[in-house]
Amino acid sequence: MKSSTDIRKMRDNLLAWYDAQGRTLPWRVRPEDRARGITPDPYAIWLSEIMSQQTTIPHATPYWEKFLAEFPTVIDLANADREQVMAMWAGLGYYARARNLYKCAQIVRDEFGGVFPQSESELLKLPGIGPYTAATIAAICFDEATNIVDGNVERVISRIFRVQNPLPKAKNELRDLARALASPKRAGDYGQALMDLGATVCTPTSPKCKACPWQTFCAAFKAGDPTDFPKKMPKKKQPIRYGAVFILLRGEEILLERRPDTGLLGGMTGLPGTEWASKPPKDPFAAAPAMRNWEKLDGPEKDGRVKHVFTHFELRLDIYRAETAQKPDGHWVAVATLPDQAVPTAYKKALRAAGLPT
Ligand code: SF4
Repeated sequence: MKSSTDIRKMRDNLLAWYDAQGRTLPWRVRPEDRARGITPDPYAIWLSEIMSQQTTIPHATPYWEKFLAEFPTVIDLANADREQVMAMWAGLGYYARARNLYKCAQIVRDEFGGVFPQSESELLKLPGIGPYTAATIAAICFDEATNIVDGNVERVISRIFRVQNPLPKAKNELRDLARALASPKRAGDYGQALMDLGATVCTPTSPKCKACPWQTFCAAFKAGDPTDFPKKMPKKKQPIRYGAVFILLRGEEILLERRPDTGLLGGMTGLPGTEWASKPPKDPFAAAPAMRNWEKLDGPEKDGRVKHVFTHFELRLDIYRAETAQKPDGHWVAVATLPDQAVPTAYKKALRAAGLPT
């Protein structure tokens, strides 16, 4: 643990570094903006935090801009058509976040009069807002002295203290160490500064220690081994799940379907297919609900396999392709419009493998 003098110096150094070199992000209110009386919009900050989880800021930014243009307030988002929200989210992945985003907007509209609650503990009760997001919104928007810990912060703290305990077991230890450093003054700027430090200076493979405002306090720098931290448990092999999808073409049209509301990719538009299981389906046609509407098809043929990696498993999808003159019910769309359809990446891979436009 650091002395109170060191902790004070660390806070001052980090805030001074942030004032001079912190990132400018589209949703961020920089210290010089705050000085001009600009305050962060909790709705815009919440959107940015949910969207940038599990993805990069350059990837999330156009989505954030699109959502804010279409739904300028949380009430506009709550009043929107759910299908439109899901379609606008397509490509950002982790679709449960989009469902929770929509639910959360409706709760803020109905129970809070369209105004986000202003404390970490109240924010935590909203769907899709976990400890990290609640701490971040409360600090950035309401200057509550919370303890913001994301992957970047974990890396910085593990190096400052040379934490030997491996992740994920070390999470609580890292959180406690971060809490002891967190600044009660300028809480929002401090949290953003620490995240910036991890994202731009204390990077995973080549930390720029010479440019670091915490260099003199860093145990790993002194020991010359920053990249040995954070320690990590060996990765478990990811399980594999198997399924089949059907590319059913009628002239210039293709059959799509909406996935069930719950579960992975819930509520999104996809290709008809089987469930995803630990073994490949023995009879994909019998196992796919959409195929029950079909009379005998003229030789649907296997047309390759695609792989897609989700957080907790790898998916292998066999592709079956058939052309037909039959006309069962379903969501038929023109093949030429496929690039405009909000189809998640796993299905886009199957479409591309079958030579169709995405
Ligand atoms: S001195 Fe180097 S390892 Fe330590 S916190 Fe700074 S960038 Fe990271």
